[in-house]
Amino acid sequence: MKKETICVHAGGVIDPTTRGVNTPIFTSSAFGYLDSDTRFYPRYFNTPNQAAVVSKLAALEKTEDGLIFSSGMAAVSAVTQAFLKTGDHAVVQDEVYGGTHAFVSAHFPRFGIQSSFAPADADAIIAAMRPETKFIYIESPTNPMLTVVDIAKVASAAKERGIITAIDNTFASPINQNPFCLGIDVVIHSGTKYLNGHSDMCCGAVLASRELTQRVFRTAYSLGGSLNANACYLLERSLKTLALRVERQTENAMAIASWLSGRPGIARVNYPGLASHPNHDIARRQMKGFGAMMSFEVKGDPGAGVSFMKKLKLIFPALSLGGVDSTICDPVSTSHQKVPVEIREAMGITANVLRLSVGIEHRDDLIEDLDQALRN
Ligand SMILES: *Cc1c(COP(=O)(O)O)cnc(C)c1O
Repeated sequence: MKKETICVHAGGVIDPTTRGVNTPIFTSSAFGYLDSDTRFYPRYFNTPNQAAVVSKLAALEKTEDGLIFSSGMAAVSAVTQAFLKTGDHAVVQDEVYGGTHAFVSAHFPRFGIQSSFAPADADAIIAAMRPETKFIYIESPTNPMLTVVDIAKVASAAKERGIITAIDNTFASPINQNPFCLGIDVVIHSGTKYLNGHSDMCCGAVLASRELTQRVFRTAYSLGGSLNANACYLLERSLKTLALRVERQTENAMAIASWLSGRPGIARVNYPGLASHPNHDIARRQMKGFGAMMSFEVKGDPGAGVSFMKKLKLIFPALSLGGVDSTICDPVSTSHQKVPVEIREAMGITANVLRLSVGIEHRDDLIEDLDQALRN
C-alpha cells in the first residue's frame, strides 16, 4: 500500500457490533484473563487502541513493530535506558532536541554511562566511536539549523561494529524520511508534532524490528509512560490525514523558503530543499520531501527578530511545531535558552534567527504575512 492508503487504513479495528469504520475506544484497564493467554493492561503496551496506532505507524516507517508513549521524551528515555548500562559508551549528536541533550548530560553520568557529543556530521560521529561504544543517537534534520546528517553512512559504520543506532525522526515525519530503510535500528518520534498535527496532544513513538521493540518494551513497562486509549484514538484519527498534511506543509515550506531567500531584509535561510543548503545533496538522497521546518535570520540589531514576529498577523509565535497552524519562535529565548551563548553562536543561533513551522494555510497568505511584517 502507498502511504496515503496506509494512513487511512492500516491497523484500524472494525467494531463487530456496528461495523463502524472507526476503531472503537477500548477504555478498560481491567481485562478478564481466564482462558486467555494475553494479559491485557495499558502499561504493557498491548491494548487494542495501542496496537491499532502502532500498526499504522510501523507500516508508515516500514518496521515490524513499535511502542506508543505518552510523550516524545518518554520514548527517548525508554530507548536509551533499554540499550545502555553502566560502563557502556554512547555517541550522541550535539545538535539534538534540547530535552534529549539535557537528559543525556544530567542522567547518563548518574548511571555510569559514558557519552561523547559529536557534531551533526557522519564522519564526526563515526570518529567519536570507541571500542566500548554500544549506542549511537542522531537526529536529522536538526532543530533549528536544519543540518542534515548522512543517515546511511552512520548506520552502516555502526552495523559493522555491532553498535545499535537510534534516530529522532520528528522533523522529517515518516512521510518524508524512513530511516529504518537506511539501516537505522530504532526510529523515535515526538508524536506531539507532525503525527498529531493539530497541537492538541502529547505523545511519542518507537518503531523498530520485533526483537528490538521487545528489548525496549522490557525496560518501558517498568518505567511506565504508556498512552491511554482516548489519546491513542485521537492519534489514530490524526494519522489518517498525515500524508495529506505533510505533503501540503512541505510544498508550502519550499515556496516560502525560496521566497524568503531572495528578500533584502533576510540574512540567510536554512532549508534543506534549497540548492544553497550545505547538505542539500544528502537531503536529496535520503528524504522524499524536504519537510516543513526552516529557520532564517532577520537583518538588524538584536531585537529585530522579535519585533518581526510581533508584526505577524497569521503566523503565530508559539512553542512546539508540526501543526496545521503555522507557528514561529526565536530559539534563543525558547528551545535553546539554556544552551551557553558560545555554543549557541558557534551553531549559528543568534538573536535574530527565527524557526518557522509551516502549516497547511494557503502559501500566498503566509507569504503575504511575512512580506507585510518585513515591510512594516
Ligand atoms: C518536541 C520534540 C521532542 C520531545 O517530545 P515531547 O513530546 O515534547 O516529549 C523530541 N525531539 C524533537 C525533535 C522534538 O521536536
